[in-house]
Amino acid sequence: MPDGLSVELNDSLARMRGTDHARPRCAALVGTVGQAAHCGIYEWRPGPCREFGLRAPMGIGDEACARARARHGLAPLA
Ligand code: SF4
Repeated sequence: MPDGLSVELNDSLARMRGTDHARPRCAALVGTVGQAAHCGIYEWRPGPCREFGLRAPMGIGDEACARARARHGLAPLA
């Protein structure tokens, strides 16, 4: 993990910088959401991101997906 991208919460937990903001945006996210965006540290992304990637097909288009898209002015997926 490159320095400065995560915030240590305690001895065993950390979070990606920016993910606790009112309008969350991970510090490692590159590009413009809704146009072209990608993880800038894909090869080094943390475990929860890797696990989400394995589960993501199940969440695409669900209510949480729709809420996240709405926060960026995007319509829900059909
Ligand atoms: S996949 Fe990358 S951009 Fe997305 S939350 Fe994880 S570290 Fe941040």
